[in-house]
Amino acid sequence: MREQPSDKSMNRMRNFVEKYCQKSGTFTHPGEGVTEAVVLGLAENVDTIGRPLCPCRFYPDKEEEKKYRTWMCACDDMQIYKYCHCLLFVTEDGLPITEYLPEGHEGREMYGEVKDPTPDKGRPLRHKAEEREIERRERPS
Ligand code: SF4
Repeated sequence: MREQPSDKSMNRMRNFVEKYCQKSGTFTHPGEGVTEAVVLGLAENVDTIGRPLCPCRFYPDKEEEKKYRTWMCACDDMQIYKYCHCLLFVTEDGLPITEYLPEGHEGREMYGEVKDPTPDKGRPLRHKAEEREIERRERPS
């Protein structure tokens, strides 16, 4: 049977999610269990590799991935585009914000354009969009 993450990591991630929602003007998903599943994955990564690596992606080598901040929650896509593909930080209706994503991004293709209801909040790394797109091409993950 799979081991449960520690209470310490679960609490750390739950607190983080609550605070980050306030800071970014987003909400947790209204669907039952969605948030808890992502928090559990984040807490598991905190326990095993010591970092809150995004649990909704596959990494050939998690230790290698630790060298980058790209997918450490809140990841670069969240901090630059306010887009959370795990649906951890969404609109009140449970949709991921896609308004700021570049053309051709998977989020745009999946959800169309979803406007940001609180444009005055979040996106502290918005000036890094160009670097992020170079990285997306050169280091797909
Ligand atoms: S997509 Fe980004 S913001 Fe969303 S859970 Fe993963 S790391 Fe966190």
